[in-house]
Amino acid sequence: MKRFFAILLCKLLRRIGAKFGRGSSLPGQAALRLCPDILSRVTLPDTIIAVTGSNGKTSTVEMIAQVLSSCGKSFAYNKEGSNQIEGVTALILSHCSLRGKFKRDILLIESDERYARLTFRAFHPTHFVITNLYRDQLTRNGHPQWVFDAIRPAIPPEAQLILNADDPLVSLFGVGRDNTVFFGMERQSFSTEDCTAVYDDGKYCPLCGAPMLYDWRHFHHIGSYRCSRCDFHRPDPVCRITEAALSEGFLIIDGEDRIGLSFRSLYNAYNILACYTLCRRLGIEGSRIAAEISDYVLRSGRVVTFRLGDTEGMLLTSKHENSVSYDQSLFYIASQKESRAVVILVDAISRKYFTGDTSWLFDINFGLLNSPDTERIYLTGRYAYDLAVRFSYTDIDRSRLTVIPDIPEALDAIRGAGHRRLYAVSCFSDRDKLLSRVETT
Ligand SMILES: [Zn+2]
Repeated sequence: MKRFFAILLCKLLRRIGAKFGRGSSLPGQAALRLCPDILSRVTLPDTIIAVTGSNGKTSTVEMIAQVLSSCGKSFAYNKEGSNQIEGVTALILSHCSLRGKFKRDILLIESDERYARLTFRAFHPTHFVITNLYRDQLTRNGHPQWVFDAIRPAIPPEAQLILNADDPLVSLFGVGRDNTVFFGMERQSFSTEDCTAVYDDGKYCPLCGAPMLYDWRHFHHIGSYRCSRCDFHRPDPVCRITEAALSEGFLIIDGEDRIGLSFRSLYNAYNILACYTLCRRLGIEGSRIAAEISDYVLRSGRVVTFRLGDTEGMLLTSKHENSVSYDQSLFYIASQKESRAVVILVDAISRKYFTGDTSWLFDINFGLLNSPDTERIYLTGRYAYDLAVRFSYTDIDRSRLTVIPDIPEALDAIRGAGHRRLYAVSCFSDRDKLLSRVETT
């Protein structure tokens, strides 16, 4: 009876919420309050896919959903991105009959990495995709090792793990386990032997603590590694990007499946590879997956183009407190061989909590912008002066920086300067402060 009412309450609240455009976790929260073990009282499908990791969860899940949908599969997923237990509960109950039977064949879940263990206490995913573990939200997550420890209890022994082979800490989940497959990217022309980031999270073996050796890196600690002491090394991927032609805008997976890139970043390439590997596990042919996600433009996309006066702009949504996501955006800007201005906006560090900690700015490789192509760098938002302090530790000449904390004032200055091209780097928490004042295209 409790189950019946919890499901009914969730469905009603979700319907009301949808009318008023409210968040999707509240109905789940109410159902859990009424029936705390509701998730173990419902009948779930045979295939339950979980996707977690620091970055790329939403994009990976969206692309998996695109492939499943085009193959006519019956599935449900948390498209609003509510990825903690309340959001997952709302997703499940809203697709259940009042008798507690999930009405689709596949359940696809984006799961918060820190709280995955709570979500998966009541039921177990059959496929568990882990994208990467980066420094992310220091105030909430601490260090990647800490997140590793938080995820580990969430992984049921029977689940098939689908892991990023190129991320040492992620591949560590597969040590001593059967039923694990890996995905990875082979050496590319842009790969380097040394770490090019401002810090190195791949310096030591996560298993024994001895120095790690790298044959190559694609960025940060992502690459081909082996421990100098123990047997820990990059496992052999079953699905691999054999060619990442970023400037030409395509990938080749396993030497045969060509996938066009709507956004030419390594980030996007790894998300595509994670999606491809998972879909192959579900028995979908590589060529079919490639056709469905080739040139796919993400709904949850990080990239927005806009106009500001005569200036053509591109917003590269990054994540505050996540230096790898910033570095990827800066790397992309640096790889565009054209004159441009750049604006960096840090105003509210998080949407969910307050923190004034800006130590993460020192993890970002802002020196990537030090090129004659960068005409001017605007620093704006509440933390504009913190950014200016960070920039004082780069080789970028102070005279090329304009610091204007007030966002409208900064945008006026950019408009007045008449740059042809502008790249904006900011976070989901701040980007509307820019997008509401420009003309999106
Ligand atoms: Zn070792």
